[in-house]
Amino acid sequence: MTDTVGGAKRSEMPLPNELRPLIPSVDKLLGTREITEAIAMYPRWAVLQEVRAVIEEVRAGTIPLVTDPGLREAWLASLAEEAARRAVGASGYSLRHVVNATGVVLHTNLGRARLAPAAIEHLVAVATRYTNLELELATGERGHRYDHVRELVRALTGAEDAIVVNNNAAAVLLCLSALAAGKQVIVSRGELVEIGGSFRIPDIMAQSGCQLVEVGTTNRTHLADYEHAVTPQTALLLKVHTSNFRVVGFTAAVGVDELIPLAREHGLPIMNDLGAGCLVQLRDLGLPHEPTVQDAVKQGADLVTFSGDKLLGGPQLGVIAGKREIVKRLEKHPLLRALRVDKLTLAAFEATLRIYRDARDPIAELPSLRMLRIDAATIKQRAEAFVARLVPRLAAGTEVSVQPGSSQVGAGSAPGVDLPTFLVVIQPHATEVATIEARLRQLTPAVMVRVHGGDLLVDLRTVDVDEESILLEALATSVR
Ligand SMILES: *Cc1c(COP(=O)(O)O)cnc(C)c1O
Repeated sequence: MTDTVGGAKRSEMPLPNELRPLIPSVDKLLGTREITEAIAMYPRWAVLQEVRAVIEEVRAGTIPLVTDPGLREAWLASLAEEAARRAVGASGYSLRHVVNATGVVLHTNLGRARLAPAAIEHLVAVATRYTNLELELATGERGHRYDHVRELVRALTGAEDAIVVNNNAAAVLLCLSALAAGKQVIVSRGELVEIGGSFRIPDIMAQSGCQLVEVGTTNRTHLADYEHAVTPQTALLLKVHTSNFRVVGFTAAVGVDELIPLAREHGLPIMNDLGAGCLVQLRDLGLPHEPTVQDAVKQGADLVTFSGDKLLGGPQLGVIAGKREIVKRLEKHPLLRALRVDKLTLAAFEATLRIYRDARDPIAELPSLRMLRIDAATIKQRAEAFVARLVPRLAAGTEVSVQPGSSQVGAGSAPGVDLPTFLVVIQPHATEVATIEARLRQLTPAVMVRVHGGDLLVDLRTVDVDEESILLEALATSVR
């Protein structure tokens, strides 16, 4: 890419000493119309910071110095403009709107689930005023924050009791610490998963002070493997959803239902870490069938853990649902205080759960679930209408087409499942796709697309209808 400032080509040559007096001073740029206007609109510190940065680049030779007296005025204006443009970015929010055109619905790097309007409304209401976060209004006594969602989780999952913590990793950490510290936990070798980032079952196990007892093999584990591993030191049988990978071919795993007689015989609890626990039938989202959270509870695990911001479509948190006596033990554990959720999370979660309880069609009200359900024909229509608007805005020679492809669920949920979609495929005429992808990322709002070979891929499944104009404008200015 050849970037220009004031019409001059960028070079990397350090400035010779005799030219140094020609570097504009901070005051000189502050006196320009461009900077005066910028200071009226953006914080002074940001404008000043970027003015200094631009001057520094002239000094370093990354922005070429213009010496011709006839061109100096226009050059200074272009420097001021550049500083003002950068000040907008420097003073903006760090955490901000990204248009997700990747087609990955629960994109962990882009914040996973999108909250329902009712959840947003309730979290704003709760943030604005004092609340009964830890107060029992009926008695005037100190209450528990978990009580605001406990009944809803029980009603929706069929569990005897429930609490929530910061995320599902925290849920697993708390359960292992409270039930099995200093003791052994039996897990199948086929379930020793690593979930994106740094959640690894063996590491969490070590962090909780438990001893991991691996049974079976990577592809096959039998009931007898569990039976042989039980010792007086065993404290828990753990099942982990393989989430982000699939074992196919010659495989065998032992279901929670098959483990129950063994657990009862030895008086051991069973914990089932579901990961992306789903409260509706996956079939209704166009995904292959898997047990719901309700099914997992019914199967008889003593504890079931799952995330709030994966297929549930709520805020980041981890739900622990299970037998009352065990949940009560968790509530007494000192670690709970460190893992507790805040009132905004509880507000968003209560509102999300109420949608499941009350709405005729909960999927329609939960943005991420709704995106999963959109059928390919609808996306095709939108893509074709979008292309019709986009093509006249692009440089001649840019190839644009609508082609079948696949969207992803994301967040390690439903790995290997392709949701049929239609992609807007853009083949730029003159510029590398990586350059365009980077330009799109640095816009406000930022835009994330997929890159495949020499193509930019845009999947409208994850783009709201009211974001289409932003996306169109971004592509029109960046695909050059
Ligand atoms: C995603 C996942 C986790 C971690 O959940 P977070 O909410 O991301 O902390 C743990 N276990 C399983 C099986 C998962 O799929």
